[in-house]
Amino acid sequence: MWSKIFENLRRRMTCIYAGIFGVLILLIVFVAYTFVWWEIIDHERHELVATVYHEAEEWVDSGEEPCSAVSIHEGSMLAYFVTMDDKTEILNQLGDGPQGRALWRHRNDWPKKMDSTRIIRMHGEPGQGETVRYRYLAAVAPVVKNGETVGKLYMFENIEFYYTAAFKTLYKLLCIAVLFFVGACYFGYWLAGRNIKPISEMYGRQMQFTADASHEMRTPLAVMALATQGLREDEESKYSAFAQESIEMLQNETKRMSRLTEHLMALARGDEGTMPELKLAVDMTELCQRVGKQLALLAQEKDITLHTQVDGNLQLLGDEAALHRLLIILLDNAIKYSPEHTRIDFIASKTKNNLLLAVQDQGCGISDEDKEKVFDRFFRVDKARSRSQGGLGLGLSLAQAIVRQHHGSIKVLDNKPCGTIMQVLLPLKIA
Ligand code: ADP
Repeated sequence: MWSKIFENLRRRMTCIYAGIFGVLILLIVFVAYTFVWWEIIDHERHELVATVYHEAEEWVDSGEEPCSAVSIHEGSMLAYFVTMDDKTEILNQLGDGPQGRALWRHRNDWPKKMDSTRIIRMHGEPGQGETVRYRYLAAVAPVVKNGETVGKLYMFENIEFYYTAAFKTLYKLLCIAVLFFVGACYFGYWLAGRNIKPISEMYGRQMQFTADASHEMRTPLAVMALATQGLREDEESKYSAFAQESIEMLQNETKRMSRLTEHLMALARGDEGTMPELKLAVDMTELCQRVGKQLALLAQEKDITLHTQVDGNLQLLGDEAALHRLLIILLDNAIKYSPEHTRIDFIASKTKNNLLLAVQDQGCGISDEDKEKVFDRFFRVDKARSRSQGGLGLGLSLAQAIVRQHHGSIKVLDNKPCGTIMQVLLPLKIA
């Protein structure tokens, strides 16, 4: 179990490392891409503005047209010369291709102010499909002849190539980023394992120590239990009242210690993941009825009525001894923490895919704040009270370990009007 906990921790740490690295790498890719793209487009804007001014001067000086026939045909560079009032067309070099027609349809997108540039994004002609796209960078400059502005010259540069190149580059960068990300996942996993290893080993040694110590204490405790029992039953010896009280105390504490070592060993086994495999079918109907009957006798001592209501044919793949211990813990707690003359309901029934076990008492209840804490080792809501009842603070931790061993869940609910409901769900079929 503890190795599973550390494996989960390792996975979680890997996800965090990889997540942070992934976000960083994506950020770097997008910032680098945006930066390079912006540099390219900015450079092209300056170039086009310089070109349009140059061509305007050439037109005035020598009448040379701004675009060559080839560039008009290819749609790589187009031009349009018009009077300042937009009424008289002086030169139309938009050509008769689809790009020129698209530009003409998007007249409203052309730059308005002199020296300014605009990117014009256009789709194909109606009927040509939305997939055909054109992107042009447009610039406009005044045409000045003998100190008088005679018109304005628009020039359009096809920048689709830059977009395609940029998209390809981004795609390649993202592929490289994915490769780095995968590498980072492996590296993160390795790093997390390296960091966790010493802690996991230390934890393992501690678990081993608890298990070994509990195991070693078993025999002396059994001997002590037998010896104290013998002392109490020895009718020939005459003990003073003080001695008798001391022997009784010794016997009670020995029992307590024995239970403590049993619980610690079971928990250590659970932590190590060495609880038995859940291969055997357990007849839960019979087990619940049997435990219900046993504990009803104990309840009677406090004049508590224990009502057992068990559905028939409840079968479960599990560890019978552990399930027996689970029922004892829940019912024993209900009896311990209930006042006299109350009632406890013990229900075992079948829900859709689960076996539902519920122990409902009319005792002191557990506050919302303590509902999760009661599963912590050695946690007791009222230490003095729990100790006087023979409590160790390990019962519910062990109950939780057993429930987990059976892939189920356990929770504490409030009983109405007072008391506690301990609810356990155990899957009837284990995947
Ligand atoms: P303990 O051996 O002290 O009973 P557990 O782990 O079984 O240890 O329970 C932890 C604590 O939870 C108990 O000390 C008690 O305060 C509280 N508790 C458990 N069951 C009940 C219950 N049915 N009603 C009220 N309190 C409970």
